[in-house]
Amino acid sequence: MQAPICTTCARSGVLCPECRKKLENNEITKLDIELAGLLCKMEDKELIKGEASFERTIAVDSLLLVLTKGDIPTLIGRGGRVVRYLSQNLRKTVRVIKDTDFKTQVMDLIAPARLLGINIVYKPDGDETLIIIPKEDESKLVADLGTIEKAACLLLGNDNLKIKLK
Ligand SMILES: [Zn+2]
Repeated sequence: MQAPICTTCARSGVLCPECRKKLENNEITKLDIELAGLLCKMEDKELIKGEASFERTIAVDSLLLVLTKGDIPTLIGRGGRVVRYLSQNLRKTVRVIKDTDFKTQVMDLIAPARLLGINIVYKPDGDETLIIIPKEDESKLVADLGTIEKAACLLLGNDNLKIKLK
């Protein structure tokens, strides 16, 4: 298991000085610690095939994005088993996102809804990013439009973003 906290802390739930500092500096959250602990537990019980890893998480309302540079199928599990276990235990809808370029992140966020495009609208007071999704795919989103929009803003690191249904 690879996480923003060390394995010893993930296993015990008791933080070493280094991990404690990360928590105090808001580099990690309580959910990161909980998630890392659950992944360790799942590895011990051999409920995960391969090595699970994540870089960071983003929580928006009941949605938890888990960003990983590692193997996505490992974190999702066969038939979604891993992601379901995590969702139940964290009491959040867990969404695994590849920690890479913004477009790929958006596709992971909205799947199985389709991405028609990402447009940049140039405005004098700052450019606006438009994420365009087919209207008929709205019901396929894992959360309501407002939550998905907030999550996309946090992925982009910018509030000038809107989701447009077309
Ligand atoms: Zn530690």
